[in-house]
Amino acid sequence: MKFGSVQFYKRLILAGYLLLILVPLVAAVVLGFLYVQQKNRADALQDATLAELTQILQATQAAEGDTSLVLSNIDGLLSPTNETASFPYQVLYPHLYSNRPLVQTVENNTVYFTFDDGPTSLTPAVLEVLQEQNVQATFFVSGEQCRQYPDTLRAIAEAGHTIGIHTYTHDYDIIYSSVEAYLSDFEKTYSLILELTGVAPEIFRFPGGSVNAHSQPIYIQLVAELSRRGFVYFDWNASAQDAVAGVLSSAEVVNNVQSSAAGQTRLVVLMHDHTENTSTVTALQTLIEDYRERGFQLKALDNTVEPIVFYQ
Ligand code: ZN
Repeated sequence: MKFGSVQFYKRLILAGYLLLILVPLVAAVVLGFLYVQQKNRADALQDATLAELTQILQATQAAEGDTSLVLSNIDGLLSPTNETASFPYQVLYPHLYSNRPLVQTVENNTVYFTFDDGPTSLTPAVLEVLQEQNVQATFFVSGEQCRQYPDTLRAIAEAGHTIGIHTYTHDYDIIYSSVEAYLSDFEKTYSLILELTGVAPEIFRFPGGSVNAHSQPIYIQLVAELSRRGFVYFDWNASAQDAVAGVLSSAEVVNNVQSSAAGQTRLVVLMHDHTENTSTVTALQTLIEDYRERGFQLKALDNTVEPIVFYQ
């Protein structure tokens, strides 16, 4: 075959066609192999996390009926080392591990009022209503707000209310970007509350609730990791819908709580002590009187209360 002959060009074209078929074929095989490898890795990770979560949930359920069984008795749940950790983030912040017993009970006909995102300049007014009515409540606080209102945070603690961790920045894009990012924000808030009040928080509330559009890719891992460290989280089953500050009348706040609470005997009520939410304070007064008249007890949350959670 001579270079430049008809036959040469025929073969050149043929070789070109073969390459056109072979190159995509080889690429498809290689990419397919890489995809399967990655998928297996992701599945294994998810299985490990789910297995761990199941173990924790079973321990929690067992603990309800048997007070001798506590979370800390489950082998390997606490303070892993680099060798025993299933995930690298488990060795972060060893001071966030606790071996406190986790025994939870259900008390019916109980209302737990909870206030998120404070403290703010409105919080003293909330504290005043609670004090006048002799009611204990729960404050899921923001670290940035605690820096701004340290005295109010201390006043919450001194009045005997429960302080829970909400977040430091409340920036969904940051905190839900990875488990490590969430833990970093959580630890910052934990340490600040401890520093300012001397009380180590034991409960928390995820910004936006445990399952939301931002947390969705990692919430199973977050729930597993923080439960393993002994923290209890609370979503809610009744809401004032006052997250957007200053737009509702107090009658609307009361109605939102009552309609979302209808038919339930154990209420974890989501409210916000945002600066402009004066109607929430007025509504709180009405709600306290209303639920008392209906025979409910009004209490603060703690880690012995069986949580209301979105994820079952
Ligand atoms: Zn919030």
